[in-house]
Amino acid sequence: MTDGARVATLPGTPPREAATHCPYCALQCGMVLRETGRRIEVAPRQFPTNRGGLCQKGWTAAELLDHPDRLTTPLLRDRPGAELRPASWDEALDRVAAGVRAAQDRYGRDAVAVFGGGGLTNEKAYALGKFARVALRTRHIDYNGRWCMSSAAAAGLRALGVDRGLPFPLADLGRADTLLLVGANPAETMPPLLRHLTDQRERGGRLIVVDPRSTATARLASRHLQPLPGTDLAVANALLHIALTEGWLDRAYVAERTTGFDEVRRTVAGYWPAEVERLSGVPVADLEATAHELATVDRAIILTARGAEQHAKGVDTVTAFINLALALGLPGRPGSGYGCLTGQGNGQGGREHGQKADQLPGYRRIDDPAARAHVAGVWGVPVDDLPGPGLPAYALLDSLGTATGPRALLVFGSNPVVSAPRAARIESRLRDLDLLVVADFLRSETAALADVVLPVAQWAEEDGTMTNLEGRVLRRRALREPPPGVRTDLAVLAALADRLQGRAPSYREMHNKGPLLTPEEAFPTDPRAVFEELRRASAGGPADYAGVTWDRIDADTGVFWPCPDPDGPDTPRLFADRFPTPDGRARFHAVRHRPAAEPVCAEYPLHFTTGRVLAQYQSGAQTRRVAALRRAAPGGFVELHPDLADRLGVADGDEVRVVSRRGDLRAPARLSPAIRPDTVFAPFHWPGAARANSVTNDAVDPISGMPEFKICAVRVEKP
Ligand code: SF4
Repeated sequence: MTDGARVATLPGTPPREAATHCPYCALQCGMVLRETGRRIEVAPRQFPTNRGGLCQKGWTAAELLDHPDRLTTPLLRDRPGAELRPASWDEALDRVAAGVRAAQDRYGRDAVAVFGGGGLTNEKAYALGKFARVALRTRHIDYNGRWCMSSAAAAGLRALGVDRGLPFPLADLGRADTLLLVGANPAETMPPLLRHLTDQRERGGRLIVVDPRSTATARLASRHLQPLPGTDLAVANALLHIALTEGWLDRAYVAERTTGFDEVRRTVAGYWPAEVERLSGVPVADLEATAHELATVDRAIILTARGAEQHAKGVDTVTAFINLALALGLPGRPGSGYGCLTGQGNGQGGREHGQKADQLPGYRRIDDPAARAHVAGVWGVPVDDLPGPGLPAYALLDSLGTATGPRALLVFGSNPVVSAPRAARIESRLRDLDLLVVADFLRSETAALADVVLPVAQWAEEDGTMTNLEGRVLRRRALREPPPGVRTDLAVLAALADRLQGRAPSYREMHNKGPLLTPEEAFPTDPRAVFEELRRASAGGPADYAGVTWDRIDADTGVFWPCPDPDGPDTPRLFADRFPTPDGRARFHAVRHRPAAEPVCAEYPLHFTTGRVLAQYQSGAQTRRVAALRRAAPGGFVELHPDLADRLGVADGDEVRVVSRRGDLRAPARLSPAIRPDTVFAPFHWPGAARANSVTNDAVDPISGMPEFKICAVRVEKP
């Protein structure tokens, strides 16, 4: 069956049925939407990632299309402190353009910033990056994907030469004899993925989970390592230490396909298992058994996710696991390798095409002269007009409204009031802006602070492409038009570009080097036209989409990048013969454990960590509004070990206060032996008193800019 086979579109009429994908996570489960009268039904469909399954979030996704909270008219705030009021599109867009002009006239081009999201389609992410650099000519654009897997991205780039979440199809998981999951909980975050784990188990494979909590995934494992949060790097180095001591190194692979191993060998020599047990709490016997089960089988896969990444040493932690995979000779063989489980729906594609502060389309570096020249040529602007790199997400948000930071911010598809670390501080920064503009389809907590809210289309109302956790480019298909009063993000960008054209001579005054581009030509509203331009802009880059077409995606189950030639093959598996580095070899990097940015102390004696629950997604702006999901997960909670609760005099259901140096959260206690007695956990989906990010630390990884969501020091009190 082809991916496009189920699309039923009658010429001249709106589609009544669309074969599309879930709007939420990076598994991008295949689903069919059917409109029957006023009802929209969701049905799963066979797709290689979900194989006919959906989780509760996917089943209920269509409920938001006609939700009473749906925004269908622009909103304006006339003055600080006034309520948002309905406005016309012209009034709202004029207000945005005037605010942009005022900020840039007074403070310069970088006084305006753009903040995107990992849920935007490739077309929208691309257009947003172009809009920032060409229409606004600001260097300040970044996105919430920075908080999702930027550490794995940076580690993959420096070690393997490329950042593609999984360098192999997801089905490879079922072929692995041993699968090591580090800081990943797919049983709650992407349940249909378990079908691949079931395959693996039925073939006799072993699943080893590394997680400080005994999660639903850990309970499926044949072995669960439960380290102290923030000690994964030491665990990885100990595993490599054991493999070397036991003679399990793949010497030929290391010699022929890698560089830099000697320094790693010297470094891990100091990671004695007994010392790592004292540091991490993982027994030596478990370390030895894990190393054995990884190193002595034909096929093994190591996967990392947010638990390993969301640390101020996230890049080094992921690097330690890549070192282990390389030393065992895993990458490049079917059923073996290293990969990262991307979280957000288009977390992968979103960072490939220009939404990130340091990147241009095709995963090109914005400070690379050749890359700048190529993209400037596609955009029809002088290369010197392209701004340089901007600030990564947290630094950008933390600079808003300050003496040196942007004075205006345009947010597309993100809710940083709930999702940013040290969120109260970021909320205060947003309030300090001269102009906050939010394009969304619901009044998120960030939209509630905005001066201008622009109502935009939802996933089932738009065509486009997404790139899932495998690097597979797939098609999002519209079921119906957006409701009256709602515009697509592409139409919003085009309308703003039109109003700002006097500010953006780049695409108006390039007639001496080529044809004059109108704003409509520079910012097309047809997503297929945007994708055609994206193909040209990405051509020759690391994430090369030049050979990907919508028709080609429709004719099969997506297309894996890189795919440089429309008539050539795509690339489901990377690294078979070489790595995309200058010498074709992967690069070891010696990395050492270091403590969390904020150690526990007498005043804050407990470790605090955050994560997700099955029935909610990210900041919860969407899923908190779905009745069935709200019933399943109605509010925040604080997970405590019964022994800790006993010491604190806390009973199950009691309200507790979790206090860090940055703020506090209040929520009911949930007692569970699944968590270590020295650690407390809270999910991050809720705003207000239960906001987990009121507590989290804003220390960031020096390479990736990833905040340390996964560990900080707290105390727990009864209020
Ligand atoms: Fe699939 Fe993720 Fe959607 Fe659940 S949320 S249905 S796992 S894509």
